[in-house]
Amino acid sequence: MISIRNISKSFNGHKVLDGVSVDIEDGEVVALIGPSGTGKSTFLRSINLLEHPDTGELEIDGKTYDLAHASKDETLEIRRSTAMVFQQFNLLRNRTALQNVMEGLTVVKHVPKAQARERALRELRNVGLEEWSDHYPQHLSGGQQQRVAIARALSMDPRLLLLDEPTSALDPERVNEVQRTIAVAAAAGNTMLLVSHEMGFVRSIASRVIFLEDGRIVEQGSPEEIFGNPHTDRLRDFLSSFE
Ligand code: ADP
Ligand code: MG
Repeated sequence: MISIRNISKSFNGHKVLDGVSVDIEDGEVVALIGPSGTGKSTFLRSINLLEHPDTGELEIDGKTYDLAHASKDETLEIRRSTAMVFQQFNLLRNRTALQNVMEGLTVVKHVPKAQARERALRELRNVGLEEWSDHYPQHLSGGQQQRVAIARALSMDPRLLLLDEPTSALDPERVNEVQRTIAVAAAAGNTMLLVSHEMGFVRSIASRVIFLEDGRIVEQGSPEEIFGNPHTDRLRDFLSSFE
């Protein structure tokens, strides 16, 4: 199990996250929903220390990290066991799809090049992009770029995959292929924490849904409970904005 406890973060005296805790079972897909500006990205970024939270703990495989005071080595360990998929893909522009996927394996995990290449090709095959491996990001569609980013993240064998609005920068006709790729990764047993505004997708993929507002968890439950029987006016209002 992965346990994220008591994450708080203020920017310029404004409390963006107020003691948010989430436990995630192995293989679970937890979806985080909520209005924009409510702290969802800050929460994900705090988990793998792209952001430095004021308080917070991360427990993975029985080891507990103090996120507010992580050493350099601990930061590296945390980044090795988590991987992030960003809204804007964040591929290296001057590297091919294959080189993008190989990069983390060779640089972070020190995997020998031939082995990294084999693994990267396997991951690209899994996302349906093996024949695009020698293409540069600018010659790939947004959907293809995001699938490369997912292949890159999965190649690291993360204990927790963090996905921050992975389809919201895509043209509408590209959303489905990326959602399918994420669904395949979920079915393969990857543990995920997903931020998404695609309620149909959340409903179909999540084992649990958490509604965050103003830096606090307002409600959480199964997709059936959250979408079928919301308890708070705030969640009802939020959901009605998608109708
Ligand atoms: P969400 O992902 O739910 O839209 P964010 O986590 O991106 O929300 O942002 C939450 C709040 O924190 C917003 O008010 C945003 O402006 C603020 N914020 C996020 N990052 C920073 C930062 N680096 N510096 C200052 N304010 C920030
Ligand atoms: Mg965000």
